[in-house]
Amino acid sequence: MLKIGIVGISGRMGHALYDCIVGMDSVKLVCGIDRNVSALPAGCRCEVAADINSLNNLPDVFIDFTRPDCTLSVLPEAAERGIAYVLGTTGFDDSGKEGIKNCAEKIPLVMASNFSVGVNLLLALVKQTAAVMQDADVEIVEAHHRYKVDAPSGTALSLGQAAAAGRGVNLSDVMVAGRSGITGERKYGTIGFSSIRGGDIVGEHSVMFCADGEIVELKHHASSRATFARGALRAAQWLEGKAPGLYDMPAVLGLPR
Ligand code: NAD
Repeated sequence: MLKIGIVGISGRMGHALYDCIVGMDSVKLVCGIDRNVSALPAGCRCEVAADINSLNNLPDVFIDFTRPDCTLSVLPEAAERGIAYVLGTTGFDDSGKEGIKNCAEKIPLVMASNFSVGVNLLLALVKQTAAVMQDADVEIVEAHHRYKVDAPSGTALSLGQAAAAGRGVNLSDVMVAGRSGITGERKYGTIGFSSIRGGDIVGEHSVMFCADGEIVELKHHASSRATFARGALRAAQWLEGKAPGLYDMPAVLGLPR
């Protein structure tokens, strides 16, 4: 049975993972890491500590949905111990991403800004549409709950990267986020981002391809965090026996590139 540890077990995604794992026969929750032990999932009996060094029961694989500073303290320690890693935390800067790549030289690691199967399918469709509708203006709109701390969402950025890849350009060269004031006319070839924050929205993403005379809109609606939890657990199981390296969800799901 695959031994799992949840990093961020007291958080929203930590709870969703816990709920999924208790219903599974093929995996076992052996530990959790969280600095907040007052909000553990109801019925949680596994060992929980504020950091990896205080744990007695180490897992085969950690699943991490926390904050970049937390990941960047737990992941190197997990890599030293040869523990595989599923990483869902978003909002890393370039040096954080570099640190993750270095760790993935020692352990197999799946990183995804969105673990839902539907969003990963959407990424492939966006790339294809961007390539076919070369003249269309690409606009990405995302909406999330009021507690989300980063914008645009990691998923919106991945959708932007997919559209940019379809056009053969780098997203950083064409990205326009959060327009305000006298912006001037829209520049041809740019990819726009708009972020909405409010209530308990789990995650909405829409990619609009606006051409003269027609619009194609590709949309994804997440109604429950269970979709991310199930995808992350699928990734954790897929990692068993894999060589060290940085993997993504298309690899886990066997989607075409
Ligand atoms: P949350 O705030 O509800 O949970 C985060 C948990 O991490 C909290 O319990 C907090 O106490 C803990 N934590 C934070 N810093 C810590 C530290 N230094 N040491 C120990 N514990 C620490 O957040 P959430 O809604 O569960 O989201 C977490 C992350 O996952 C965010 O980055 C979010 O964007 C991302 N996310 C990704 C996906 C995906 O599919 N990749 C889906 C949903 C959320």
